[in-house]
Amino acid sequence: MFPFYLSHLRQAPYFTPGALGFHRSPHLISVLSRKLMSTATTRSNLSLPPPESDIPIFTTVASYREWRRKAFIENRSVGFVPTMGALHEGHLGLVRRSLSENDLTVLSIFVNPAQFAPHEDLETYPRTLERDLKVLAEQQVVASNSDMSSNSIPTLDSNQVKRPSAVFLPSVREMYPGGIEQEIVKQRGTFVEVTAYGEQMEGKSRPGFFRGVATVVTKLFNVIQPTNAYFGQKDIQQALLLRHMVTDLLLSHPSPDHLHIVPTARDPSDNLALSSRNAYLSPAGRKVAPTLYAALKAAEECWLAGEGDEGGKNKNKKECVEIARALVERRIEEARYHGLDVEITLDYIEMNDAGTFEILDDSDTRSFRGNEAAPVILSGAMWVDRTRLIDNLLLGDFGTVVR
Ligand code: AMP
Repeated sequence: MFPFYLSHLRQAPYFTPGALGFHRSPHLISVLSRKLMSTATTRSNLSLPPPESDIPIFTTVASYREWRRKAFIENRSVGFVPTMGALHEGHLGLVRRSLSENDLTVLSIFVNPAQFAPHEDLETYPRTLERDLKVLAEQQVVASNSDMSSNSIPTLDSNQVKRPSAVFLPSVREMYPGGIEQEIVKQRGTFVEVTAYGEQMEGKSRPGFFRGVATVVTKLFNVIQPTNAYFGQKDIQQALLLRHMVTDLLLSHPSPDHLHIVPTARDPSDNLALSSRNAYLSPAGRKVAPTLYAALKAAEECWLAGEGDEGGKNKNKKECVEIARALVERRIEEARYHGLDVEITLDYIEMNDAGTFEILDDSDTRSFRGNEAAPVILSGAMWVDRTRLIDNLLLGDFGTVVR
């Protein structure tokens, strides 16, 4: 129990005595951390103390706010990576990006009931807290003094190793003091809806999903007060919708310009987008899972094939999506032929305007209109047995989207 955050105290000059009402005395740290842990209600509804970690863990809003207050006073930038845990390289890439751009980095782990419909996988969602804390503690980047914010105290070394500074690990009760029902009609209280944007694309397949996401992220932003926040392109609609939300609600922590979208991390062997839900896949399911990416790539290739070609050979959206669908059909046939015990069902493959989320007209050929055309989200969802996979590619001039 003892090394709850002691080694971190040694690494991070930010954690001076008294930062949390704690002291460097090992004995006192041990007593206080035990007290903190004994009052912790974490891991969804379970009242279990968090496992040991070298990184300070905050399970209450009040204790985190005390820490954040000090960061404000010292003018330290705070980067934030919200997650539902079961960490993989996709999450860790966001953490490293935050480490490289901020003085302090906070990651939250919270499986948010409000974004799961009653028939979805809230109960079985992978929860691997002990391992998460271990891999998180292994993350580090070497920052040169010139990377530090202007108020950081320069170190004697020319380079400084930066590691995650804190984990926010609240209980459901802490995040939803009035309780939370999964069925929207039974919910009472305050929720955040990003209208229109939340009803398109994934919102059509998962009504209420983005309401749950926008609500929990608003709460998390209110607590964490991040200078910068990091989201994955893997969930592109979520990230862009949150940028709308931050803009509309006039948030300053983060401001819209400080909500960053980081490219999707993939399995280098077959390009499957990393996802906590990949853990649900059977061996046969894992084998066929990259079909979705392959289909998106086929549509992308079609879309870009005649770029710059004035001769009228350009394919339109409908043709390109058809090519992608045909590829999925072929892979389904192949899986059957090889006797793979797996069921693949394509939910959708679609192209949407990255600004409005509107579906592109079937006849759209905007890739040939050059850089002035709005970027396009080419996205898809596919069931592999009972696991729903999503993926996307950005087409066109997407530098304004992923940054
Ligand atoms: P989750 O824990 O699934 O809610 O994801 C937390 C954050 O990690 C979200 O911003 C996701 O978009 C991001 N993320 C998840 N998978 C990936 C990935 N393969 N590449 C990049 N970011 C990801």
